[in-house]
Amino acid sequence: MATAVVVGSGPNGLAAAIELARNGIDVRVVEAADRIGGGTRSSEYIVDGLLHDDCSAFHPTALASPFLRELDAEFDLGSHGLHWAWPEIDLVHPLDDGSAGILWRDLDRTCEGLGIDGGSWRRLFGYASEHFDDLVLDTFQPLVRVPSHPLLLARFGVKAMLPASVLSSRLRTPQAQALFGGVAAHLFGSLTAPMSSAVGVMLTAAAHAHGWPVARGGSQAITNAMASVLLSLGGKVETGRTIGDYSEVADADLVMLDVAPNAATRILGERQPSRIAKAYRRYAYGPAAFKVDFAVRGSSGDVTDVVPWTNDAARRAGTLHLGGTMKELIQAEGSVARGQMTDRPIVLVGQQFLADPSRSVGDIHPVWAYAHVPNNHPDDVTDLVVNQIERFAPGFRERIVGIHTRSVQQFQSYNANYVGGDISAGANTARQIVGRPRLSLNPYWTGVPGTYLCSSATPPGAGVHGMCGYNAARAALQAKNW
Ligand SMILES: Cc1cc2nc3c(=O)[nH]c(=O)nc-3n(C[C@H](O)[C@H](O)[C@H](O)COP(=O)(O)OP(=O)(O)OC[C@H]3O[C@@H](n4cnc5c(N)ncnc54)[C@H](O)[C@@H]3O)c2cc1C
Repeated sequence: MATAVVVGSGPNGLAAAIELARNGIDVRVVEAADRIGGGTRSSEYIVDGLLHDDCSAFHPTALASPFLRELDAEFDLGSHGLHWAWPEIDLVHPLDDGSAGILWRDLDRTCEGLGIDGGSWRRLFGYASEHFDDLVLDTFQPLVRVPSHPLLLARFGVKAMLPASVLSSRLRTPQAQALFGGVAAHLFGSLTAPMSSAVGVMLTAAAHAHGWPVARGGSQAITNAMASVLLSLGGKVETGRTIGDYSEVADADLVMLDVAPNAATRILGERQPSRIAKAYRRYAYGPAAFKVDFAVRGSSGDVTDVVPWTNDAARRAGTLHLGGTMKELIQAEGSVARGQMTDRPIVLVGQQFLADPSRSVGDIHPVWAYAHVPNNHPDDVTDLVVNQIERFAPGFRERIVGIHTRSVQQFQSYNANYVGGDISAGANTARQIVGRPRLSLNPYWTGVPGTYLCSSATPPGAGVHGMCGYNAARAALQAKNW
């Protein structure tokens, strides 16, 4: 029986492991941390029973993932403990005057709420959202290949290629512009750069196609369900062991690396062809995250009155994007991408407890937040995060009963894939959107026979979808040169 070692147990490592195990390979996953899951874990940091997502929180890409859909159809992920829950409103982007851009899963309702921008919103995102499951068959694959739906991909590409600053100018109201701008900012990069609309168009279309759901019981439930499927297929998992050198895994027929390209090159050493090692070393990392989890006491037993948002819809939204108007978002992301911290960084806030009340303890609720900061940023920015929330929810500070932070440096030690605190495992520049970690027909192959990179430094990039791992495993199974 052929054997495989998967280094790293993030969703991509687990996806690669499952796909190999499903194809009759004896698989072992080796994880550096003492718990599996990488960026898909949940913890009780502040109050016993109060559950925070360590990293990933909202999962449109998991629902859209062809791999996870197939896995669900075959193994019934619900029976492995994975259940999705949707907030009433997916996303709200509040502005200083108390108004907001509101994104509902329902496209019609969103367009209606956006008033004079409703028609433009539909023209920008309607087609992609209606055909989203076909679109991901191409966009969740390496882009350098013959597409299965060329016309659909071309229609998507025309918008995705534009800078977000340009695409947003097709909208007229500050609410609609900022709503798109905040989603586009998931790129973690300059919103005036070519292709900086790509992530925004994908995530907006995903929101209308599938919503932005949370996993009941925390994102860890996604990891646990995948691990449970893997174990049922005979796979094994070992935690607390960091692979530093290829000799530790060389006895396996296949090696799948759910690691960043710089770590892959260190592990592979002289074995890796110098041309590919050079490309891995040149691979660029993007801005970082500074995370703040709050324990917040609600004021009246009413879950819509936990964070005192001025905007009413914000009290019912799973996700909030804080950062003000499109102009402000462009400035904030631009300076962070240039390595300069701003006083008003973009802050993402999660109120997962609205969809999943099991995460709260009595009237204390977990509020999840992170700010975009420059790569390797050394400072504690907790105050800036609190200030941004206060700006749109005056009185928030008084409701905080506990805070847990994860700095840029702590992110790196928490997970080696977050180089300089970059939680996307690589900058989303146009070059790296088209070809990550390098331009190649087989971007997963490391150049060493039987050894593949399967982290989100490969296509289709960051997010919990398992497609990097699945695609890498398919590439390995097809190569058969091991
Ligand atoms: C704050 C934050 C918020 C996010 N929000 C969302 C969200 O809402 N929705 C979403 O879809 N995505 C989100 N993400 C992104 C998502 O978590 C990642 O894109 C995803 O986890 C990447 O999966 P992966 O398997 O490639 O790598 P990871 O999940 O990073 O896992 C890599 C694993 O490999 C291990 N490892 C690395 N090197 C070694 C080694 N040498 N030996 C052994 N083990 C090793 C690491 O310890 C880690 O467990 C967020 C991430 C962060 C940090």
